[in-house]
Amino acid sequence: MPPWCRKIQAVIFDLDDTLFLERYYVKSGFEAVATYLRNMIGEKKPFERWMWRRFLAGKSEKMFDSLNEHFSLNLSKDQIAKLIAVYRQHKPKIKPCRGVKNLLTNLKQRGKKLGLLSDGFLPAQQLKLRAINLERFFDAILFTEEISRSAWKPSPIGFEKIRAELNVPHHACAYVADNPAKDFLAPNKLGWLTIQWRRRGQIHADNPPPKGGKPKQIVHTCKELLKILLAD
Ligand SMILES: [Mg+2]
Repeated sequence: MPPWCRKIQAVIFDLDDTLFLERYYVKSGFEAVATYLRNMIGEKKPFERWMWRRFLAGKSEKMFDSLNEHFSLNLSKDQIAKLIAVYRQHKPKIKPCRGVKNLLTNLKQRGKKLGLLSDGFLPAQQLKLRAINLERFFDAILFTEEISRSAWKPSPIGFEKIRAELNVPHHACAYVADNPAKDFLAPNKLGWLTIQWRRRGQIHADNPPPKGGKPKQIVHTCKELLKILLAD
C-alpha cells in the first residue's frame, strides 16, 4: 500500500543506530573492558585506543581475541569470555541522537502508539534503553531475545507479537530502523510501512538488502520522518 493511502497508527522503532549511535556504545564498551583488563593484569596499557582504532578501520570481528594476541596477554578462553560478558553487561555512556526525544514527544502528542523492537543480547539491550532514558515513551517494548534467538530479525515473530500488543492492523504500522540487511524484510511482507533512517556515523546503513528487504522510504532528518508518519 503506498504511503499516501494509509494512516499510521503505531510507529515501532529499532534501537541500535536508530535511537542512538551504535559506535558510541562500542566505544563505551571498549572503555569498560579496558578498565577491567587493566585491573585484572595490573598493566596500564591503552587497550581501548587500540580496539577503537581497529573498529574504525572496519575490523570488529573477534576483537578480544585480537587484543589478546596483539598485546601478548596470554588470556585463557574463559578470560576472553569474561571480557565479552563485561562488554555486554557494562552500563553504557550513550545518549539519544539529536531530535529523537522531540520526535517521540511529537508522535505521542499526535496520538500515535509507540513501540520498540530490537534484537541483540540481553542484558545489553535493556542497559542501552535504560541509558538513553526513553522507556516512558513506549506503549510496548519487545526484545526478541526474550522470545528466542530464532525470533531475531529478519524473523516476523517479533513484528507479529508487538503489533498484537499495540492492537493495530499491520497496514497501520510503521517500522523505523537502520539496517537494510535484516530490518525491513519481515515488516514489508506483513504490509507495514518501512522507513530507513540514515544518519552520519551509522555502521550498517549500506548493507545490501535481501530480495524484498528494501525500505519503502528513506529519510535523513526528523522533519522528513515526521512528515511521512503524520500524513493523513
Ligand atoms: Mg539497528
